[in-house]
Amino acid sequence: MPEPAHPAHVWLDGEIVPWERTMVHVTDAPLFIHAVFEGIRAYWNPAQERLYIFRLDAHLKRLLNSIKLTRMRTTLSKEQIAQGAVALCGALGYREDIYIRPLAYFDPAAFQAATTSGPVHVLINTWPRPSQLDRPTGLKCCVSSWTRIVDNILPARVKCLANYRNSALASTEASFNGYDWAIMINSHGKVSDGTGSALMLVRDGVVLAPTVTDDVLESVTHETLIQVCREVLGVEAVRREMDRTELYSADEAFLCGTGLEVAPISSVDGYTIGNGGIGPITQQLRRMYHDLVRGIDRRYEAWRTAV
Ligand code: PMP
Repeated sequence: MPEPAHPAHVWLDGEIVPWERTMVHVTDAPLFIHAVFEGIRAYWNPAQERLYIFRLDAHLKRLLNSIKLTRMRTTLSKEQIAQGAVALCGALGYREDIYIRPLAYFDPAAFQAATTSGPVHVLINTWPRPSQLDRPTGLKCCVSSWTRIVDNILPARVKCLANYRNSALASTEASFNGYDWAIMINSHGKVSDGTGSALMLVRDGVVLAPTVTDDVLESVTHETLIQVCREVLGVEAVRREMDRTELYSADEAFLCGTGLEVAPISSVDGYTIGNGGIGPITQQLRRMYHDLVRGIDRRYEAWRTAV
């Protein structure tokens, strides 16, 4: 039998419901430019026969901040949404790596066009998504000609669907020009995010990440990897502004994020990073990330929510 193109059930406002029950009419589609969401992964550990949701609490904290900054209203707490995610993954019986996508959207019936505020529905959707942590080669990146969105125009800190038009402009341009991925510069000329991902560099043994005021999405993976560098690998990790030419000068560079995990960069605008292969710190971080998300390495237990 062919696999269904969607899960049998989703979670909506506190209840597990059949997927078919959550239809929205296409004439309500414009409302979705306001929608905010999260991207979360859960990893299957075959030896333990367990599915672990990674950094659920941090993702839901960011979701609730996106809801607040969008002036959306929900009576659901972080704990209720977390319980919903766990219950849904359990009910669907996944025994593989999956993606979990909470989405908060205005109720079409209650939406006030004049004020763009009001009650929202919170939906959780899921689908199988295998890890790609074992990519054998690095990504060929470019610096985009498109500038990263600005906090006072369209805040990158809010994980809003509309923000992803900015990423899409950059990633489409990159693929038209023969690159795998685009890196964006902010309006101050400093390095910001990759498209749909965060970025980190290694220079002289120090791991670098942009600051949270560099028009980045405040990345859960950044936080995770910075903590792992400092506490496990004994590698210095700092957040600071980064110049474009530091990208080209880096010993190692990688994109990171829930979806992309840890993805080495082999070149930027034709400048080879390191020797063009996967650098030693990137490799160590990739291995640690692999073991932590799946609960093979049992440290940082609070980061994993068992289903
Ligand atoms: N920046 C952008 C623009 C993103 O879309 C993502 C992916 N959510 C990230 C950074 C990484 O965020 P996280 O590590 O929380 O997944």
